[in-house]
Amino acid sequence: MNIDRLLRKNIRSLRGYSAREIPCRVKLDANESPYGFPSFLEPLSRVRTNQYPDPEARELRRWAARRWRVRIGRILPGNGSDELISYLITTFGGPVLFPVPTFSMYGITAQALGEEAVAVPLDDTFDLDTERMLRAVRKHRPKLVFLSSPNNPTGNSFSTERILGIVRASRGIVVIDEAYQPFSGSGGLLRLLDESENVTIMRTLSKVGFAALRVGFLIGREDVIEAVNRVRLPFNVSALSQAVAVEAMKNFSEVRKAVGMIRRERETLFRELQGTGGVTPYPSEANFILFKVGNAHAVHERLLSKGVLVRYMGPALKDCLRVTVGTPEDNRIFLDALRDAVATRGVR
Ligand code: PMP
Repeated sequence: MNIDRLLRKNIRSLRGYSAREIPCRVKLDANESPYGFPSFLEPLSRVRTNQYPDPEARELRRWAARRWRVRIGRILPGNGSDELISYLITTFGGPVLFPVPTFSMYGITAQALGEEAVAVPLDDTFDLDTERMLRAVRKHRPKLVFLSSPNNPTGNSFSTERILGIVRASRGIVVIDEAYQPFSGSGGLLRLLDESENVTIMRTLSKVGFAALRVGFLIGREDVIEAVNRVRLPFNVSALSQAVAVEAMKNFSEVRKAVGMIRRERETLFRELQGTGGVTPYPSEANFILFKVGNAHAVHERLLSKGVLVRYMGPALKDCLRVTVGTPEDNRIFLDALRDAVATRGVR
């Protein structure tokens, strides 16, 4: 049977998120933290695996509300922010507007759900191109605008003034995806929740040492949270994940210490990349660095042959690779392999 004729039209041309397990020695391709917290797994032994998890994740929401100083009714946890992106688009529909290059799931999910996706290029400093964004807002009247700040894969935060310009011009909801906020110098834009009625914030535990849990948060107005909650699958966050996430929230100072180490290591890595001939790194406020290098595809392959996995950015960002900040040792192995790769004849 040829299932193509059965597929919904929008799925026929859909290319899913590319994530596969590639064997390697040093894994620096997925913006994970190199530091895990095995001691936080202790509450798992008390989880009652025969029962469903708390459907409302009350304890987790209570701790999250405390952490971000908002009312509990303003928090909705998801199975990663990925799930929350899907819920937002399911709830409000499209058009869905976002700048590019950015996190691919905004576009993939919009297409999967049969909604119009509108992609507007960033300017040449990777900041929002206000004029083009505002033109797109007027033309398409998006129900949802997704702004990843700091942005994946470019690493920079968007200028707050430009974000505010888009917030003011939009009649729909502007979702500020702050997955990488802990690594930036700023405290993020949670304060906008009280200043602008159409702002919603997303945060995640994935980048700070808990990618395995799949726990993200939507933080927004109560009526937005209530609407999104209508489409939420029952028990969307497992009891195991809830238990460990609560532990992480309770002990956030330890998480912050690991984030501090990554931020310091990012600065060292940036300087080392700057000092490497043929390589141009872009400044980053996230836990990864985008860099330009001639013949990026060949360099990527050569790094992999030495067991070092980074992210090849393809035609979206010509001649660019993205490397996650690892431990000092990971970064040393990466830099040695990179220097070797660019020095190899035919690669540079
Ligand atoms: N937003 C951005 C900007 C991301 O880069 C990622 C992960 N790459 C996500 C969201 C997804 O995070 P989660 O693991 O919470 O689904």
